[in-house]
Amino acid sequence: MPDIRIKTPSLDLIFEKWKQKAARTDRKRMEKEFGTKGAVFSLDAVSGAEYVKDTMKEVAIYFAVKKSLGPAPKGKEENTVTAPRVSREQFYSFKGSGKINKEEWKGNEIVPQFESIQAVSCKTCRGKGYIENKCKMCKGTGKIEETFTVLVGEEQNKEKKPFTYPCGACYGTGNRTEPCKECEGHKNLYKYEELPVPFQTVVTGVPILQSSAQTKYEKEIGDDLHKMIEDIEGIRFNNFKELETKAEASLGYWNKNIKKTISSAGSDYKSYEKDKDAQITTQIYLFPMIQMYAETKRGKKFEIYSLGSGTKFMVYSNF
Ligand SMILES: [Zn+2]
Ligand SMILES: [Zn+2]
Repeated sequence: MPDIRIKTPSLDLIFEKWKQKAARTDRKRMEKEFGTKGAVFSLDAVSGAEYVKDTMKEVAIYFAVKKSLGPAPKGKEENTVTAPRVSREQFYSFKGSGKINKEEWKGNEIVPQFESIQAVSCKTCRGKGYIENKCKMCKGTGKIEETFTVLVGEEQNKEKKPFTYPCGACYGTGNRTEPCKECEGHKNLYKYEELPVPFQTVVTGVPILQSSAQTKYEKEIGDDLHKMIEDIEGIRFNNFKELETKAEASLGYWNKNIKKTISSAGSDYKSYEKDKDAQITTQIYLFPMIQMYAETKRGKKFEIYSLGSGTKFMVYSNF
């Protein structure tokens, strides 16, 4: 890109454009503020030389960003829990309900989804729900063995005799079943996913404007530029480094505020570059901005701003 020196509009030109616009909007007011009692009011008599007290040369930096809102959250989380716990979870379903308006949505952006619930056979008990252990009572034999002392014959001699009966704890099987601690006897665990709410993607164009002039019009100017960027001439740059290097030479003037504005717009630009949901859709425009401090014949102070070059510029005013 060749070095471009941009020509700012002359003060007369700016004042003239403001004057015509103001007269079109409210001629009576112009007459009141600039007219002379007893004389026929003529716009020609209202001149910048007379009513502009001071001017400042400033800049505005503009670029546009396309920002998509939602489906913001990405990723998913998988949980595997017991049956009682899955029944306590709050599930959501978006099946057939279409995309969700993020503005209207109340609640988390990542939620458990009903359709994702899946039964997973418990590994600990192999899906049986219980664990078989040797019966502790009979040590796995299924029998309780006792030794009776029996009194034998007339002498009643003591004799030890074995006596066996089935174990009542395991019903004689030698095994006892206990509920599996992992699945709490429910045979399965339940797996489900927490997924992002399927928000509608809304893509909006956002104008980004920063100016070194202290103006209330940044929002208005930004919106205007967004609509008619071709009607205002600025210097275009492909990146901020280029802008920083060439700004002063292109403008032909410089001040501390301009330097500050460029660096703050630069960090804005960088954060949009990093933002996954944003996309910078224009080059970077540097506009000369003239700020004029004026006073009407009746002593009312007001400001006029011009934005753009001598050939294509716009005026704003708080008149
Ligand atoms: Zn037993
Ligand atoms: Zn189990």
